[in-house]
Amino acid sequence: MPRPRRDEERRYGARAVRGAILRAVTEPTHVEAHGGSLGSRLNWLRAAVLGANDGIVSTAGLVVGVAGATDDRSALLTAGLAGLLAGSMSMAAGEYVSVSTQRDSEKAALALERRELREQPEAELAELTELLAERGLSREVAREAAVQLTERDALRAHARVELGIDPDDLTDPWHAAWASFLAFTAGALLPLLAIVLPPAGGRLWVTVASVLAALVGTGWSSARLGAAPPGRAVLRNVAGGALAMGVTYLVGSLLGAAGV
Ligand SMILES: [Zn+2]
Repeated sequence: MPRPRRDEERRYGARAVRGAILRAVTEPTHVEAHGGSLGSRLNWLRAAVLGANDGIVSTAGLVVGVAGATDDRSALLTAGLAGLLAGSMSMAAGEYVSVSTQRDSEKAALALERRELREQPEAELAELTELLAERGLSREVAREAAVQLTERDALRAHARVELGIDPDDLTDPWHAAWASFLAFTAGALLPLLAIVLPPAGGRLWVTVASVLAALVGTGWSSARLGAAPPGRAVLRNVAGGALAMGVTYLVGSLLGAAGV
């Protein structure tokens, strides 16, 4: 329930009101893969876990499929390595393109904001006041805060409150690309090593068991990082991986048996 400002001030003092203003202004309005706040670090971590999960599942499906057709270690190594590189580079390229596009649109929005601030400062001040009031400040306090923020750094204030971005901290597409590349590679190494290191008789079971165990870990972590209950997430994740390996193994065996 919003309260009149004087009540709040009497009860909590001017410092609490200033704190409320600060929170209203700095609270992120959308979830973004920046490096700054705790929330965004968790998002990075979760993206890394999901990237590793992709690497595990796709490479496991690939090598188990090839293992269905052949016992040849060098064929398994070639397939696994090619899958690792193709997957990690496609993830990196996709991430680079998507983050670049997002960055372009953020830059365009900032340029528009800069122009509006130059051409119609009064309307922009009114807009900022309105946005702050919508976040629970009284009109009086919102106006005061808007005036101060505009004096300090008008563009930054509008970027944060209106666009939900920090102009000094736009996501770097190269960072995002590298992060995806590394996360996928880390995940893909597990099934690759599990299929080529053990002797021929045990490699399939070692791979299936280690992949399913790893999927329990990634499913659990990504659910916890996303603050979701982990039980069902783990089940879905393990079922997805088991299905991928089951299907490719079946296809590989059929092709192997047909002598293709
Ligand atoms: Zn604006």
